[in-house]
Amino acid sequence: MARVGRECSKRMQKSVIEVHHLYKAYQTAAGDFPVLKDVNLQVLAGDYVAIMGPSGSGKSTFMNILGCLDMPTAGSYVLDGYAVATMAADQVAKVRNQTIGFVFQGFNLLARASLLDNVALPLVYAGVSKEERHARARVLLEKVGLSKHMHSHPNQISGGQQQRVAIARALVNQPRLILADEPTGNLDSTTSEEIMAIFDSLNQEGITIVLVTHETDIAEHAKRQVRFLDGKIVQDTGSASSVAGSEYV
Ligand code: ADP
Ligand code: MG
Repeated sequence: MARVGRECSKRMQKSVIEVHHLYKAYQTAAGDFPVLKDVNLQVLAGDYVAIMGPSGSGKSTFMNILGCLDMPTAGSYVLDGYAVATMAADQVAKVRNQTIGFVFQGFNLLARASLLDNVALPLVYAGVSKEERHARARVLLEKVGLSKHMHSHPNQISGGQQQRVAIARALVNQPRLILADEPTGNLDSTTSEEIMAIFDSLNQEGITIVLVTHETDIAEHAKRQVRFLDGKIVQDTGSASSVAGSEYV
């Protein structure tokens, strides 16, 4: 797999995400339904981006493309140096698994598995031994403050705790990018702040974070706010050139 554009052109700071002239239209019975219309975004390593915008503005569609769960109709997407929009599906899956951890609004945990097995699950696909899987999952459950509950099941813990488990699971492959679509959307404000504190500390450790939120106070945790309206980015408080300040040059 050849990497392209590993360094961004103007600065030496590495791009984790580079999206150029991205379009997405859904095919519906009534014809093509355009949702993303010429979206451009560069996210540098270590960035912390909150994507905002009204319901239906295309945020989840964009996140699904960033997460390689869906393909754009047109335009280019370079993820961690790989031009994923033009790569074969199995190669994309490999890049995705080694680069990205996902966190969803609905937690998406397996109800019948223990918290330990939920966190360890992505390592099954990576071919890691059971002993090693559980060892790594234990460390991450400890990191999110849930080691006491590791043998519990998701229905025995609160929503905030379930989201902590989902974050631990997202971290198990040591991703450099976390993508989170409304990760606090199902949580009360106190619990949301606790979850955001985890994202803040992961970003301080150097993990790049892109999350979607409706809430201004959640978005303020990020270093940069990007606003979608009708499938376009209409505001970006820190385009790559301003994010990559003098410390990076
Ligand atoms: P947001 O996350 O900002 O609420 P979405 O990306 O979920 O927005 O949706 C943007 C638009 O695309 C909406 O009008 C939605 O109805 C439409 N849409 C989303 N997914 C599909 C799909 N699979 N097929 C057709 N239309 C879709
Ligand atoms: Mg959405």
